[in-house]
Amino acid sequence: MGLDGIQGLLLDMDGVLGVSWTPLDGAPEAVTRLHAAGVPLRVVTNTTALPQARFGEALRSAGFPFADEEILTASVLAGAWLREERPGARVFLLGDAQAEDLAGVDLVGADEAPDVVLLSGADDSFCFETFNRVLALLRGGAELVAMHRNLFWMTRRGEKLDAGAYLLGLEAATGLEAVVVGKPAPGAFTAGLRALGLPAARVAMVGDDVENDVLAAQALGITGVLVRTGKFREDQLARASGTPDHVVGSICDVPGLLGLRPAARRTELLCL
Ligand SMILES: [Mg+2]
Repeated sequence: MGLDGIQGLLLDMDGVLGVSWTPLDGAPEAVTRLHAAGVPLRVVTNTTALPQARFGEALRSAGFPFADEEILTASVLAGAWLREERPGARVFLLGDAQAEDLAGVDLVGADEAPDVVLLSGADDSFCFETFNRVLALLRGGAELVAMHRNLFWMTRRGEKLDAGAYLLGLEAATGLEAVVVGKPAPGAFTAGLRALGLPAARVAMVGDDVENDVLAAQALGITGVLVRTGKFREDQLARASGTPDHVVGSICDVPGLLGLRPAARRTELLCL
């Protein structure tokens, strides 16, 4: 069964297109085929380590033909959410996100009475002392907002603990529930649909995280495609809270699912 009726794709980045910025075998070619066939694409990623423009450059230098505006990072989503929902809020940013994706947001230090504590991806700033200051800010009434709930991510040197693990601790300690703007929050996917200009029924989400990419998208009526690359683990699929619409080997299988003919076969036909 293919992706009948699907006109556009939302793509996760890490673990789908590449790992630690190294493209997966065949992934640039698969995206190039999709682009050449006119399939509208948006990358929806919880990776926050690079601002949107440098993210675009990094993907293009790895061979992926994306324009900057085709890349929706959790930082970009967080900036849009804060500008719309918390205009004028004083925001303490913790983690790896860059201020340039948060234009129009009033970023302040932890000692400057922030209204919002904003967690982005985990990095070396996630330390005991800083989290104790965050705990005090939350006790004092600051709002807890997170770019995502990712528990870990895969690098060339193995798994790394991500912000979601720390978020669970903060929530358990304070009794608060964070506002999350990146995947699996519905707003992350609806922002992708708006950018594509397509309804959920015409879009598939391709990801390596069964819960946060695939099942979260399916809950909104988007078709889910799980790839067996990146952080994919057979045991996590087996105990997932639902069943992906499709499970494929990698992004390389997606053009075929959409019914795009292999490039070589097209060439043969042209030669006849
Ligand atoms: Mg991923």
